[in-house]
Amino acid sequence: MSSKDWLEKDFYAVLGVDKAASADDIKKAYRKVARESHPDHNPGDPKAEERFKAASEAYNVLSDAGRRREYDEMRSLFGSGAFRRGARAGGQPGGMPFDVSDLFGGGGAGAGDRRFGGAGFQDLFSSIFSGGSAGGQAAPRGPARGRDVETEVALDFGDAVRGVTLPLTLRAPGVCDTCHGNGAKPGTQPRTCPVCHGAGVTTRNQGSFSFSEPCRNCQGVGTVVEEKCPECHGSGGVTKTRTLNVRFPAGVADGQRIRLAGRGEPGERGGPAGDLFVHVKVRPDELFGRTGDDLTLTVPVTFTEAVLGTDLRVPTLDGAVTLRVPPGTPSGRVLRARGKGVVRRDGQAGDLLVTLDVVVPARVSDEARAALEAFAEQTPPAAREHLDARVRRVG
Ligand SMILES: [Zn+2]
Ligand SMILES: [Zn+2]
Repeated sequence: MSSKDWLEKDFYAVLGVDKAASADDIKKAYRKVARESHPDHNPGDPKAEERFKAASEAYNVLSDAGRRREYDEMRSLFGSGAFRRGARAGGQPGGMPFDVSDLFGGGGAGAGDRRFGGAGFQDLFSSIFSGGSAGGQAAPRGPARGRDVETEVALDFGDAVRGVTLPLTLRAPGVCDTCHGNGAKPGTQPRTCPVCHGAGVTTRNQGSFSFSEPCRNCQGVGTVVEEKCPECHGSGGVTKTRTLNVRFPAGVADGQRIRLAGRGEPGERGGPAGDLFVHVKVRPDELFGRTGDDLTLTVPVTFTEAVLGTDLRVPTLDGAVTLRVPPGTPSGRVLRARGKGVVRRDGQAGDLLVTLDVVVPARVSDEARAALEAFAEQTPPAAREHLDARVRRVG
C-alpha cells in the first residue's frame, strides 16, 4: 500500500474509533464492523462487501503497533501541511487539530458539508508527493503571492519593428494606503476573531469525529474589523491606477506576450508581487507586411518595365533603396533588399522582400494599341501546347 493511500484513508473512521483508541478497542471495533458487514450476512450487497474489505485493511494497519505509529505520523504531518495550504489562515498555533479525512469525507457522516472538493485535495497531495523529498515535508508557505495581471496593448507597425517604450496605464486591485491592507479604520486594529480565536477555522464534534470548516465569523481570516477603514470599507484593497513604462523590444510581433516579472498585483501581507503579462497587438501598416523578421512590400510595375528592366526606388521603414529589376523579369518575382527588415535581438536584420506585380492596363490609347499589335506580330505564341493537347482530348 502506498503512502498516498494512507493519506486518503481514515482507518479510525472506518472502524468507528477514536485516534486514541486502545489496541483492545480497535480489535473490538473491527470485530463488530466485520460481523455487520460480512458478505455471508449480506449476500449481494456491494456496499457491505466494500465496508468489510475496508475494515480488514484498516485493522491490518492499526493492529500493528509499528505500522499504526507510521500511519499516525504521516497523517499528522500532512494534515497540518494541507491545512495551511488549503485554508490559508496563517496562524494556526502549533498547527494541528485538523483531520485530512474530514476533507476526503472518509468518515461518512456529514460528507455533504465538505467545503473543499475531495478531488482538489487529492491533486494537492499528488503534487506534494511528486515534489520529491522522501519525508514529503511541504515547504513552509510564505504570504500569498500577488495575482498575475494581463493587459493588452496595440502598437504601431513601425514601433513594433523598431522597438518602443510606452507608458501603460493599469487599473488593478492594490493594497489600501489608508489602512495598509488590514481593513481597520486608522488608529484602530483588527481584533482576533472571538469565535475561532484567530485560527480561521472552527471545529465541530459529532460523535467521535471532528469536522473543521472555515470560520463563518471572520471568513477564515482569523481577525475581525470593528471600525472599518473609510477608504476600502474594510476590505483592505482598493482599485488603483498605475502607470508603468514598458519597453517593447525591437521586432515584437502581433500576438506575442511579454512578461514583466513582479509588475502584477502586490502580494498579500508583504508577499511577492505577481507578474504582468502584456498581450501585443500590432496595427497593420498601409504599405508593409511582415513575415517573421522579413518585411514585405508589393510594387506594381508595367509590362515594359518587366520586359526591358529598370531601377526601382522603393521605400523601406527607414529611408528608400534602389532595386534593380533585370530585363525579362516575370510578374510575381520577389526581389530582396538585404538587411532592410526587422532588426533582431542579436543585431542581425531580416530583409525587405519586394514582390513585383505586373499591371495590365484596363485601357490603352490608339497609339499604344497600334504599338502593341506590332509587338504581338513579333512575339512567339505563349507556350501552351500542353494545354492545347488536353483541350483536343477532352473537348
Ligand atoms: Zn474566526
Ligand atoms: Zn483601507
